[in-house]
Amino acid sequence: MLERPAAKKSVHESFIPELVYFEPSALDYPKGQQIMEWVKSLGIPYRMTTSHNRITNLPGESELEQYKIAKRTLVVGIRKTLKFDTSKPSAEYAIPIATGCMGHCHYCYLQTTLGAKPYIRVYVNTDEIMQAAKGYIDERIPEITRFEAACTSDPVGLEPITGSLRELITFMADQEYGRLRFVTKFHYVDSLLDIKHNGHTRVRFSVNAKYVIKNFEPSTSRFEDRIEAAAKIARAGYPLGFIIAPIIWHEGWQEGYAELLSSLAASLPKDASSGLTFELIQHRFTKTAKNVIEKRYPRTKLEMDIEKRKYKWGRWGQGKYVYPDEQAEALRMFISERIFEHFEDAKIEYFT
Ligand code: SF4
Repeated sequence: MLERPAAKKSVHESFIPELVYFEPSALDYPKGQQIMEWVKSLGIPYRMTTSHNRITNLPGESELEQYKIAKRTLVVGIRKTLKFDTSKPSAEYAIPIATGCMGHCHYCYLQTTLGAKPYIRVYVNTDEIMQAAKGYIDERIPEITRFEAACTSDPVGLEPITGSLRELITFMADQEYGRLRFVTKFHYVDSLLDIKHNGHTRVRFSVNAKYVIKNFEPSTSRFEDRIEAAAKIARAGYPLGFIIAPIIWHEGWQEGYAELLSSLAASLPKDASSGLTFELIQHRFTKTAKNVIEKRYPRTKLEMDIEKRKYKWGRWGQGKYVYPDEQAEALRMFISERIFEHFEDAKIEYFT
């Protein structure tokens, strides 16, 4: 096994894992071979594993240490389940190209949904995944079928390693009845700018007030880098959107969200407003999430006081804590007004 390179990387450079696992059969696919070459060229330590679902021997003394190491561990495997989950309200289906993320957003729901497997899995059988997508599209013709590529990961964060979004975008460009969407907190979009997309892929950037980014989103791209990437995406002719999530009630929230919208307006090309979409999601948490977050980010300033929240029943048993109606309405109204002040043609898809 080779030694890791000594050079330290800055947060602006793309993600380089500290350890990589390969399923042997992943190396039968060109993408698996390319990732292996990349891993070797950088001297990243790697191991073989029988299944991407069973990585049990991660290094680390404590649970917390193992969690941090897992977030820097990449597993290269094959997506066997080609049955897609649904992904309402933003799309009909989740398209699985990766699971897990190198970001350390304190509030991230992957902390609970991925349970004991926070390591990052990328799937090399993109052709089979696209074939499955084609099946879902054909079933619904003449309806349009939308696929969300960021349900279980941040695919832009991994794009420099996998190139999978580039393949999906190109595939979807030729699908009359298919559309792709993904959301990101990363800025590695350069490889997506020169490909055919036919306007069939909507790229959304997750943005927030400075307070939220500074306190709760470590290991993601800086706000300025995300906006610069959004401007590049707009200039490349992609449909563009923003997700403001989680919207957090904090001291100075009005100034924070007003500043967010005015800096978006100042940085985007003048014609970006047409077709621009916004999705607004207030902060919510479950009791399970609160317990996990407090263990993993013990010094977090994330407010999760159930006394201050409204309980919203969940469909599958576990309910969520959201803001009381009055606060939620104040957030929705204020942010919606700022959006239309700067982007009069934009569409707010939902507030939840
Ligand atoms: S970037 Fe997105 S997927 Fe990654 S940790 Fe943050 S919220 Fe989760």
